[in-house]
Amino acid sequence: MRVLIVEDEKHLAEALGQLLAEQRYQTDIVYDGTDALDYALTGQYDAILLDVMLPGLDGLEVARRLREAHISTPILMLTAKDEVQDKIGGLDCGADDYMTKPFDAGELLARVRALTRRQGEVIGNCVTVDDLTLRLDVRCLMCGDDSVRLGFKEFEIMRLLLLSFPAVVPKDEIISKVWGLDSNAEDNNVEVYISFLRKKLSFLHSRLAIRTVRKVGYFLEVPQS
Ligand code: CA
Repeated sequence: MRVLIVEDEKHLAEALGQLLAEQRYQTDIVYDGTDALDYALTGQYDAILLDVMLPGLDGLEVARRLREAHISTPILMLTAKDEVQDKIGGLDCGADDYMTKPFDAGELLARVRALTRRQGEVIGNCVTVDDLTLRLDVRCLMCGDDSVRLGFKEFEIMRLLLLSFPAVVPKDEIISKVWGLDSNAEDNNVEVYISFLRKKLSFLHSRLAIRTVRKVGYFLEVPQS
């Protein structure tokens, strides 16, 4: 899980970073709204902690522009106590939740966990959707009595699809999360691995199918029966 922390008070930003790192989140910290937008537009984050009063763009504007760009990363807005009006504004502009500073560490972590909880059900080392289970420890995809080992990139892509089910995972998000931000990977690379995964789903006789949304991304579909 990767979290973007946007907070111009450096001490607070560092404290948040440390708190999340202790819970094994990967974090990036930025200190103004312009950087926040640049980083968040990559779509590589599982959640964003977003301060309201920031140099450059304020938090509300950052949230609004992200939603405009169809970046659906969950946003937890951080507001100062006397900015009650911001709470309403924050939710209007696309934030998913807000907390008032100063906040309790335990409560913050609970909110972040809630925001990053996805649809695929994670039990122990497995993510399950319908008849399909991915074992995270041995990179094994299972359906009924059949199973198949996945290569590293196949595994990462399948994990994203399962955890995001039934939502579309944007191609850009797949590239940035699986190949990395600085990679030269292109759409074609993703398509190749999606076709490998489709073959494996059919080998396993899974009911699930990987559907393509042209020029957008991919999602897992359970057929209506
Ligand atoms: Ca601030």
